[in-house]
Amino acid sequence: MVVCKFGGSSVADAGQIRKVKSILESDERRSVVVVSAPGKRNKEDDKITDLLYRYNDMVRSGQSCRPVFNVIAKRFSEIAHALGVEEKELAEKLDDIRYQIDAGRGADYTASRGEYLSAYIISMFLGWEFIDAADVIVINSDSTVNDETYARLSKRLESGKRYVIPGFYGVSEQGVVKTFTRGGSDITGAIVARALSAELYENWTDVSGVAAADPRIVEDAASVPELSYDEVRELSDVGASVFHEEAIAPIYHLGIPINIRNTNRPEDAGTMIVPQAKRGGLAGISVKGGLSRLSLRRLMLFKRSGMRHALLTMLHIFGIRPCYSLFGIDSIVWYFDSRMASESVCHSMCERLKGEFALDEISVDSGYAVMGIVGSRDSIAKGCMDAVAALSREGIDVVSVNLGSSEISALIGIHEKDAKAALKAAYASLFD
Ligand code: ADP
Ligand code: ASP
Ligand code: MG
Repeated sequence: MVVCKFGGSSVADAGQIRKVKSILESDERRSVVVVSAPGKRNKEDDKITDLLYRYNDMVRSGQSCRPVFNVIAKRFSEIAHALGVEEKELAEKLDDIRYQIDAGRGADYTASRGEYLSAYIISMFLGWEFIDAADVIVINSDSTVNDETYARLSKRLESGKRYVIPGFYGVSEQGVVKTFTRGGSDITGAIVARALSAELYENWTDVSGVAAADPRIVEDAASVPELSYDEVRELSDVGASVFHEEAIAPIYHLGIPINIRNTNRPEDAGTMIVPQAKRGGLAGISVKGGLSRLSLRRLMLFKRSGMRHALLTMLHIFGIRPCYSLFGIDSIVWYFDSRMASESVCHSMCERLKGEFALDEISVDSGYAVMGIVGSRDSIAKGCMDAVAALSREGIDVVSVNLGSSEISALIGIHEKDAKAALKAAYASLFD
């Protein structure tokens, strides 16, 4: 059997949901479907999940927020109406959800209602059974999947039946509704594929597979026919947001293939993601911005055993988890997501680290990006050097190069203002 996940744009309105139905009906192996909340219908539109977070923020800060909820309710009612789904029960659910949010159920519960209502309407439209993710998906406090999930799913799912399951959320070990990070419906799809030992996990979206570079920046970037699990994890970690980087983990050891497909062009083959790709050469490049760079220096830094560990512990105390690291004989550079700490938190942290560890220098600056080059082992070193050469031809500053910490990727630190130009220049040099 095949588990299908349809993303936000694939369920954005009734017309899209009809396409979902025809895709499901064209292959009877497609018997379990995971859905996202309705996404954008056009560039200017809002995603339901964003509106729900906004509504919750407004409720918390005591602002008048009825119009925002009305927009959300109208989107769902319009979809149900156009699909001929009974609207009375939906209206009752919407009333109850507003009541629960207003009563302070919190951001995770609020955001989860987009997927909950989407799956409810789609299950009614298809005539397939609805399973509430809150009954089957258990999420640990670090957002990893609790093994209890698989016990619950195998008890709940019967072979030969057809199900619709909302993506993105489950419950904590304490039974409170909890979401994965943004884009997390991809993870739910992988969990369900693992629970059912599916022959294939189809991930339906609005592009015909993973492109060699973000198609919003490099418009003509070609789709890559085949990628390995590890390559996709590396690419999505540096910003290729088409597939959540944590969605490989549930199926990694089972080797279930993943097929990224386009709901608007179901005839396209898309990208196959498999344990080991047969393809050689470079797989793709991507760039992730919004990073800050913590740079510190102390003579004989690594002579003191445990120093690196102690520094990291201190960073954690200030809420910072670095995502990329570089080590020198007397220095360390850590990149981290700028949203993790405000300027004043960074300032206090620097003061504290400088005093406590007797550092010679320490600084934090925002406005950085990292470009990742991903591919087979024998292609990475040359790919990295060619990309650096392409950036320098364009006059783009290279702030750091990290080659070798992963055998299938190289990371080039740049200024965020150069991110788009850098991606275009590197793509032209490596792929055109
Ligand atoms: P969904 O809502 O279906 O999960 P997402 O918006 O999460 O869809 O992911 C699809 C989007 O990912 C594409 O529309 C594209 O803009 C973006 N994207 C970023 N990098 C890439 C890439 N390398 N290849 C394809 N799409 C990419
Ligand atoms: N709806 C959620 C989001 O917008 C989850 C998802 O689409 O995968 O992040
Ligand atoms: Mg997504």
